[in-house]
Amino acid sequence: MAQKKIIVIGGGASGLMAAGVAATNGAHVILLEKMKTPARKIRITGKGRCNITNTAPIVEFIDHFGKSGRFLRQAFGRFFSGELIAFFEKRGLKIGFERGGRVFPADGDAPLVARLLVDWVKEAGVDLRTEISVVDLLVKKGQVAGVVCGHNQKIYADAVILATGGASYPRTGSTGDGYRLAQSVGHTIVTTRPALVPLRTAERIGNGLAGLQLKNINARLFINGKRKTQAFGELSFTKNGLSGPIILTLSSLVVDALRSRAQVAVILDLKPALDDAKLEARMQRDLQKRPHDPMSSFLRGLMPRELIQPCLDYAQIDHNMTAVMLPAQARKKIRHWLKNFRFEITGYGSLEEAIVTAGGVKTAEIDPCTMESKKSKRLYIVGELLDIQADTGGYNLQAAFSTGWVAGKAVCG
Ligand SMILES: Cc1cc2nc3c(=O)[nH]c(=O)nc-3n(C[C@H](O)[C@H](O)[C@H](O)COP(=O)(O)OP(=O)(O)OC[C@H]3O[C@@H](n4cnc5c(N)ncnc54)[C@H](O)[C@@H]3O)c2cc1C
Repeated sequence: MAQKKIIVIGGGASGLMAAGVAATNGAHVILLEKMKTPARKIRITGKGRCNITNTAPIVEFIDHFGKSGRFLRQAFGRFFSGELIAFFEKRGLKIGFERGGRVFPADGDAPLVARLLVDWVKEAGVDLRTEISVVDLLVKKGQVAGVVCGHNQKIYADAVILATGGASYPRTGSTGDGYRLAQSVGHTIVTTRPALVPLRTAERIGNGLAGLQLKNINARLFINGKRKTQAFGELSFTKNGLSGPIILTLSSLVVDALRSRAQVAVILDLKPALDDAKLEARMQRDLQKRPHDPMSSFLRGLMPRELIQPCLDYAQIDHNMTAVMLPAQARKKIRHWLKNFRFEITGYGSLEEAIVTAGGVKTAEIDPCTMESKKSKRLYIVGELLDIQADTGGYNLQAAFSTGWVAGKAVCG
């Protein structure tokens, strides 16, 4: 049988995996990447440490994708976290396991993951061509037959794998080209929007709080006054709002709520381990020890310095007042503020700052066993370009690798 010629468009996580697998399975693979270097996004993942995947069992893993998770069941059934970890270990990458099932390279080196993947595809014989942007798909009799690059250069192939990513962090190369290419052969694009983004608050946070990072915080999300969900962990303040892992986790729901013009509030519990009675006991203990401290230093035992003024403003307490002078009613206000630091949410970060793009190619139009398009034969669509998105924890990269792996196998079948 003649060797199959495959074109992969996009050298990110999904495209590199698809290209390497297809080449290993005997195909002649051309990988077209528009940037000077492939895998630019992988290099910055996980704050430069690359959270490759997660050890959560498959059912829990799929849950992290919400409604879009069902589509991934088949791909995960064939190439999941265990296989991905084994894949990297086989190529010499030492793996580290962290809290919440998160999997990283042991020395936290995201660029190393990128280099390892690029070396692997080259060794597998993939013809990797960089600084080539695909501008169109060639279609013959309803089947994809190749691609058109800049200067109208046509390249023909037996199958094309579209792995151009979403539209977030466009400086890494994912500028949303794939949506237009998929649309050109009849695909529906579920409205794209930023996911895993910082949130903007009604009141400017200002320089006083900007940059402050807090651990062990519980954030409750309210939409139109109803409590929707909560997240526990780390949070940070930006000049115009909130960010950090727990805010990113809540952000997908917030984006959809704000787009439908709902009212959104995030209420922070800064002392989730202490109920009102325990907080009062704690304040009484501090009072015994330091009765003549002004409020500005008395409260240092309960909160970081940056939070003292917002707390005193809320409780309408003069910062020079000594602890012993503090009326019970004022202590109650402080306790209430610590458990209910409230922010009205009025906006969210742009796609430029979004970790992933929600929306994308409608998954009902893709065969979940092969990633082949149901709109156009010989076209396969993988990775973040699809309407799949999860919260943080290594889920998104696993989805890119798994869908890439499945397509790489299927094109050779
Ligand atoms: C800052 C940041 C941190 C992240 N951290 C994590 C993490 O730790 N764990 C995790 O699971 N997920 C993380 N993600 C998400 C994850 O990186 C993505 O979901 C994943 O990389 C998507 O892979 P992909 O192959 O679909 O797309 P991409 O990695 O975006 O690759 C697409 C490639 O296609 C190329 N391309 C685009 N258009 C064309 C064209 N017309 N012609 C040729 N080439 C083209 C692009 O240049 C790019 O190289 C992070 C994302 C960001 C932005």
